Amino acid sequence: MCGVVGLIGEDQAGEKLYPALFALQHRGQDAAGILSYDFERCQFHLEKGLGLVEDVFTSERRQRLKGSMALGHTRYSTIGSVDKEDLQPIFLSYPYGIGMIHNGNVTNYDEIVDYLRDRKLRRTFSRNDLEILMHMVAVGLASRKESADIAGNLSASVKELLQQVQGAYSAIGMLADHGLFAFCDMNGIRPLLIGRKRQGDKYSYCFASEKQVFFGLGFEYWRDLRPGELVLVDKDLNFQSSVLTEKKPRPCMFEWIYFAGSETEWHGRPVYEVRLKLGEILAQECQKQGIDVDLVAPVPDTSRAAACRLAEVLERPYREVLIKNRYVQRSFIVNEPEVRKMMVNLKLSPVQSEIKGKKILLVDDSIVRGTTSNRIVRLLREAGAEKVYLASTCPPIRHPCFYGIDFPEGESLVAHKRSEAEVARILEVDGLVFLPLNRLQEGLGLSSLCSACLDGDYPVPVSSENFLRTRNLNLGGEL
Ligand code: SF4
Repeated sequence: MCGVVGLIGEDQAGEKLYPALFALQHRGQDAAGILSYDFERCQFHLEKGLGLVEDVFTSERRQRLKGSMALGHTRYSTIGSVDKEDLQPIFLSYPYGIGMIHNGNVTNYDEIVDYLRDRKLRRTFSRNDLEILMHMVAVGLASRKESADIAGNLSASVKELLQQVQGAYSAIGMLADHGLFAFCDMNGIRPLLIGRKRQGDKYSYCFASEKQVFFGLGFEYWRDLRPGELVLVDKDLNFQSSVLTEKKPRPCMFEWIYFAGSETEWHGRPVYEVRLKLGEILAQECQKQGIDVDLVAPVPDTSRAAACRLAEVLERPYREVLIKNRYVQRSFIVNEPEVRKMMVNLKLSPVQSEIKGKKILLVDDSIVRGTTSNRIVRLLREAGAEKVYLASTCPPIRHPCFYGIDFPEGESLVAHKRSEAEVARILEVDGLVFLPLNRLQEGLGLSSLCSACLDGDYPVPVSSENFLRTRNLNLGGEL
């Protein structure tokens, strides 16, 4: 999972993406990058590196990002590595000069690599999905280079890409001397939103994973990109769009539950409002199960809205019993196991005065591997809780995700092939309440979703064994 943003029609677009990337930092903390293009000098400028946005972009590096068109990326590695070759943006010099970023996972990666090598004589230098997406665009454009209709050529190239490349991807690209383009896979699994700002009788445009980026840049949110849609904004700010392959949207339900920032919206459904609704449904389920507690507490930060609403419905106090240390973010960069363990422990500290002797209902956004939940439950007991109940705004996650969220292995999921009672025993809780799967659509207010990790109904069929065998996966995160 990653954060993406593209901008055209603004002076120093690359520098402007620096603050915009802070609004997408929660979508990826492994690395960040910005690629800008200067139409006057016909030059790309690329700055990227490992670490948080503020670590990567010194003021000197930011000033090098000249031009009025730019792409920005925050990376969370689910595929590939955190090596430099896998960082985004990336670019190719031929044809025209193409730069790209994306968010998602390609599920038939090896098939496309073989096609590019055997049929198009192209080699890849990374294990990053983006590279094959970019080669597919390049192959299509190169094969049509005799035609001066760039928009038509791009459209035909992306249409071929959408038909051949399977998976979930929302991509933004730049064509040197031509403009900015963006497209989504035909199921629209990953978000991509369009913002704009009036410039005389035209608009400058911004594409981003989340809406708050537009607010920061002084843009207005306009609309979402549709599944299978390609948009091109040329250097004179003319906007063209076409839906190249039409299918029912299958947006990832996990965006609302966990991944997206509370202040964004997608498909007309504000994330914060959805999280409140999920809390309301969970409260009704707790009432059905006769759970009676002294207080309701969130696992920070994503579940705050749901916990707040749940407490209101149950008419119990809402308290913060766990404090998240915002400075302990990236324990994976510490090599010594002892120090690393201490850092993980320091991520969440208990507020003993609010815990001791209390029956606590803890609200979490989801339970994936169960290791974090189990650690928190023990933490509360050690701090003197009388009873610990757990409520999850996500139904049990029983199947892997191959579309860009970091749980591609079924065996690593605590609810995989287990009943809710078995999961409760493993987590050592006094009671466990999941959002019922049959109330998920009601909670999200949408009738068509990707919920494959819950029900096994994959919008793009994938062979799990094949996927794991062929990809260099970064497994074992902390969800
Ligand atoms: S499988 Fe789950 S996490 Fe993955 S895209 Fe679908 S809903 Fe989202």
